[in-house]
Amino acid sequence: MVAERFGFAGRLLAAAVVLALPAVGLRAEGRPLRILTSFYPMYVHALNVAWAVNGVRVGNLTEPITGCLHDFQLTTVHMRALADADVLVVNGGGMESFLDKVIAQRPGLKVIDASLGIEFIRGAGGDGHEHGTGGVNPHVWVSPELAIRQVRNIAEGLATIDPARAGDYRANADVYVGKLEALRSRMRVELGPFLGRRVVTFHETFPYFAREFGLEIAAVVQRDPGTEPSPKELAETIDLVRSAKVGAVFAEPQYPMAGAEAVRRETGVKLGLLDPVVTGPDSPPEARDAYLRAMERNLSVLKETLR
Ligand SMILES: [Zn+2]
Repeated sequence: MVAERFGFAGRLLAAAVVLALPAVGLRAEGRPLRILTSFYPMYVHALNVAWAVNGVRVGNLTEPITGCLHDFQLTTVHMRALADADVLVVNGGGMESFLDKVIAQRPGLKVIDASLGIEFIRGAGGDGHEHGTGGVNPHVWVSPELAIRQVRNIAEGLATIDPARAGDYRANADVYVGKLEALRSRMRVELGPFLGRRVVTFHETFPYFAREFGLEIAAVVQRDPGTEPSPKELAETIDLVRSAKVGAVFAEPQYPMAGAEAVRRETGVKLGLLDPVVTGPDSPPEARDAYLRAMERNLSVLKETLR
């Protein structure tokens, strides 16, 4: 079924590629360099790196309401965007495995893996859900420290592909990384008092974040986002919250939270929303600071709930 879908999509792509202009280097005069990102956090980072750089356009492949790319289905609209792109920025770690065949069919497309050199968390911290491959957890961008590494990777990738504008990309990355560093330092100071606190999260999104700020994830419920936990899973979570001194339970704004609500009702534990920044405003001025703003909100939520 999957192969069939890709086969069909592949034919569409082949047709589209014939119409598209050739890739970088052979671009027609005046045509902007088209950078396409796989999903929202990559869009926000690439937007910052390419901010106000002449002759460059940044677009996002998936709608900013898509969230994590779970079970993502490519449509002809996405295929057209891919056929038109010069550069594709991906998170890596298997998040974009649905694009593997498309990328293979477009050898001219330059792909920047934002997670280059980042060591993924494996095993129990890895995915119960669909988008991790080989049991690695792809949600690295949720950690500001690793987001900074991703921004640097994106800037270096663009500098290599488009050397004429390398200085612009690096200068922009410096400015953005400066903001991320400032945010990160403040988060470390302000979350310092909560070091070692146990939390329960829904969906396997926060291991990198928790590791960075010294929180302990006692349990992850609802590994398949968008589905509610089973009654058994819920009962086990309630027991754990009661017995393991769990300080707070965190749900995500992108997914249903009836399960988390039930845990709160049963145990009286505090419930907060942590935003993994997979959704947000899509227009450039607002999207530019979306990661920084979401992390500011996460910081307030953590201080509120863990107090
Ligand atoms: Zn996810």
